Amino acid sequence: MVSRVIPVDVFDLVIFGGTGDLARRKILPGLYRRYVAGQMPADSRIIGAARADLSEADYRAQVAEAIAEFVPKDRQDKTAIQGFLDRLHYVAIDATGTNGWSALKGLMRDSVVRAFYFSVAPSLFGDIAQRLSEHGIADAWSRIVVEKPFGRDLASAKALNAVLAKHFNETQIYRIDHYLGKETVQNLMAVRFANILFEPLWKAEYIDHVQITVAETVGVDGRGAYYDKSGAMRDMVQNHLMQLLCLIAMEPPYHFDPDAVRDEKLKVIRALKPVPSEDIVRGQYGAGGGDKGYVAHSENPASRTESYIALKVHVSNWRWQGVPFYLRTGKRLRARASEIAITFKQPPHAIFDDAKGWHENVLVIRLQPNEGMNLMVMIKEPGPGGMRLMQVPLDMSFADAITDGEDVPDAYERLIMDVIRGNQTLFMRGDEVEAAWAWTDPIIQGWELRGDKPQTYDPGSSGPEDALMLMHRDGRRWREIR
Ligand code: NAD
Repeated sequence: MVSRVIPVDVFDLVIFGGTGDLARRKILPGLYRRYVAGQMPADSRIIGAARADLSEADYRAQVAEAIAEFVPKDRQDKTAIQGFLDRLHYVAIDATGTNGWSALKGLMRDSVVRAFYFSVAPSLFGDIAQRLSEHGIADAWSRIVVEKPFGRDLASAKALNAVLAKHFNETQIYRIDHYLGKETVQNLMAVRFANILFEPLWKAEYIDHVQITVAETVGVDGRGAYYDKSGAMRDMVQNHLMQLLCLIAMEPPYHFDPDAVRDEKLKVIRALKPVPSEDIVRGQYGAGGGDKGYVAHSENPASRTESYIALKVHVSNWRWQGVPFYLRTGKRLRARASEIAITFKQPPHAIFDDAKGWHENVLVIRLQPNEGMNLMVMIKEPGPGGMRLMQVPLDMSFADAITDGEDVPDAYERLIMDVIRGNQTLFMRGDEVEAAWAWTDPIIQGWELRGDKPQTYDPGSSGPEDALMLMHRDGRRWREIR
């Protein structure tokens, strides 16, 4: 089956920070791929806006290099690349000054969708928003896309929301979390809400626990100074893991509509219980495997920032009473793997004698690598010799059948196209972000006040020993990271 590509409306997309790392690695290669897929109308334009004093030709050459580096070779086509580069323009601009703004205004066209991607440090969001409105560049139909981090605590997130709200309505603000753009994350909603099979079981009566894992093999490397002020809780849990938790725990929205979905997610965040210190394990990777260890990359040799965190979280509502959600994320771990695993309870009565062969049903939603979904079910082991049980995966991803070897859009591509379409369903609303910080802040303040030190773990391991204990003491175990 070949997937449908529905072209979006004609647009002018301005990328502030159009020469930066994120633009080069994700945004521009992603836009090229959408161009190749035929989703970008011919007269759409992409305008890079950044500090460097570049000519249009220089910028196009830079973007050509980014495509050569970050688009798989078999997707690079000379004619298509040239066609894409022809859509590019460049303006040298100073976000905090006056330079470049009139030139940008002169480039914008009336009667096309205007989108502004703020791929710059959050400290510049306010300056850019203000100048866009002062110069009459943004109109009532314009939209802005803002990147993480969205604040570093509740106070800064509120301040950032307030700055943006001075110039834009909430319906114009797209706070991006690329985890929500993943095919399987959206498939999770389809599986839950387009089938009768799962929803009746989707509650404390039938679910034993949920595990959410985002494991990375990379360390902090060149980003040490930034990361040291953040840590895994702020960098990953407050946004990505929390969003995944919301999609699993939320009630069915009345309609697949941006505010209906986000209202339900917000209720989940508000229902999160405070987490006691004994349900939190923080880790920091030591030296090994050619890495000098976390502190060697930070500017502080006594840094207590966590590069790993595991938490046991409870959603305090009727549906999830007593069901723990175990979250963990870390750097320099054994494998790069992101997954959600929902473990169901035992049947109420065992009729088979093969207790050893029995395993729980587990629904595994794999986000990376190899996006897909599997439902682990019990069947009879084939052959003679009595009724022995075995666990087999029921593959629910159908990825090959659906895509027929096509190039499936990655999360960034999909989300940018959603911005152009004006669909906010997969973007975080301001109140969601603030509620997430309101839950996160006391947890961080707790360990800061106590002066907790993270436990050292070996690079290439599955994290600190205490994280294993977090589950063992509940008679459960983490799924293997592989
Ligand atoms: P970067 O440092 O590589 O690029 C910054 C860009 O901002 C450059 O194009 C630079 O010219 C421009 N810029 C800086 N000061 C400016 C000014 N005064 N006026 C105009 N332009 C100015 O940064 P990046 O890694 O691309 O990150 C951009 C944003 O995206 C940040 O908020 C970052 O936290 C976020 N982000 C980045 C990544 C990533 O993988 N790089 C991932 C998630 C979020």
